[in-house]
Amino acid sequence: MALRVLLPTALRHLVGNQEEVQLAGKTVAEVMSDLVSKFPELKRHLFTAEGKLRNFVNVYVNDEDVRYLQDDQTPVKENDVVSIVPSIAGGNIAAIEETFAGVELSNDEIARYSRHLIMPEVGMEGQKKLKAAKVLLIGTGGLGAPLGLYLAAAGIGRIGLVDFDVVDFSNLQRQVIHSTKDVGRPKLLSAKEKILAINPHVQVDTYETMLRSGNAMDIIKNYDIVIDGTDNFPTRYLVNDACVLLDKPNVYGSIFRFEGQASVFYAREGPCYRCLYPEPPPPGLVPSCAEGGVLGILPGTIGLVQATEAVKLILGRGRTLVGRLMLYDALEMKFRELKLRKNPKCPLCGENPSIKALIDYEQFCGITPPAAVAAVSKEEAVEMTPEELKARIDGGTEPIIVDVREPHEFDICRIPNSILIPLGQVPSRMNELDKNAEIVVHCKMGGRSAKAVDQMRKAGFKNVINLTGGINRWAEKVDPKMPKY
Ligand code: ZN
Repeated sequence: MALRVLLPTALRHLVGNQEEVQLAGKTVAEVMSDLVSKFPELKRHLFTAEGKLRNFVNVYVNDEDVRYLQDDQTPVKENDVVSIVPSIAGGNIAAIEETFAGVELSNDEIARYSRHLIMPEVGMEGQKKLKAAKVLLIGTGGLGAPLGLYLAAAGIGRIGLVDFDVVDFSNLQRQVIHSTKDVGRPKLLSAKEKILAINPHVQVDTYETMLRSGNAMDIIKNYDIVIDGTDNFPTRYLVNDACVLLDKPNVYGSIFRFEGQASVFYAREGPCYRCLYPEPPPPGLVPSCAEGGVLGILPGTIGLVQATEAVKLILGRGRTLVGRLMLYDALEMKFRELKLRKNPKCPLCGENPSIKALIDYEQFCGITPPAAVAAVSKEEAVEMTPEELKARIDGGTEPIIVDVREPHEFDICRIPNSILIPLGQVPSRMNELDKNAEIVVHCKMGGRSAKAVDQMRKAGFKNVINLTGGINRWAEKVDPKMPKY
């Protein structure tokens, strides 16, 4: 009696690249044993050493899942179609499933990972999968710090790090992979040292670059899982799109003040980031952590949720955040969860995708290229440097200085004789100022003040100018005693 057995792509190379094979048997168990006797190489992929069907394998008879009935000798008859389908979590990372069996653990590693090895959910098999896994961290900042430390400790075999930044004093409040002595050093060097100090068995790859459309595919293609630890929209969309195009899971996390989000975007199983947010917010609407602040502990919580999801994906255990958005409110100490649906009209992962390659993400997110800004400032002087402002003050031709930061920032440091009007109050309070006077507006770094300048110009202020680089640049260039934050 013959019936058809359909095999998944990941296993076809073990059966002479056939999509299906003709086999015999009266029950699913008999068919499976016929399968592995004809193709012995399949055995270690489908069964554990004890002869149990691996957790990531599901068996369907005529599209019905018989996984748990298998031991009950589910009968099959002529012309039935038996499909072997890797499950959501484990099977998706075909590269790990195909390679982990050849991985060995040394006695040192067995001692190191003993608390994993005695858990049936991990065991030797799971630990070998962790060692076989290749995980890419985009960013070694707030989220990347706990991710790097814990994934290294857990025994991930290969960790890729992408960053181009240098450690700053203001990073140390949350980026626990960097130490005080690392201030001024490249984050990549500091992160790599900490990872190797925790676990010398990890291979660390470093990419000292900004992730861009031109290099993202080349970097990401070498890894099984991508973890997004970025803090800006262009990179988020870039990571999402590259992961969908390369069929990789993208473990997402984001943080702001006291709130965080996490999910797993994996287009073959569920929605992608674009299904959730088809378009980025207009530039400036959502403040960054540098503008709005972040509780130092928050990235620890969210980064470790991301690390947990990555480990589950590798082990093929549990239920991942695919199709779910986790929301965390640290002030309330509440976790909530929203169901996410795949958008059939998603331009990237929907039924008729219009995006088939990476695009220009700066432009997509509405970020004005520097060239355009330069053109405007030539035409009408909208920027003044801190040095120029200082020279004007010293020369006795001081303009009106308006500070559009928040009062708690004004408490940290301020430029002498400046008037505090927080950005949100600018529309209602700009009438306190003389429309014809020369006014210099500043904030912390220049972003909020540019918005205020724009609003005031539209309201008829003729001579309003943005202070380049904000009070932070003033502290650097003019008043080194002033604290920077
Ligand atoms: Zn999508």
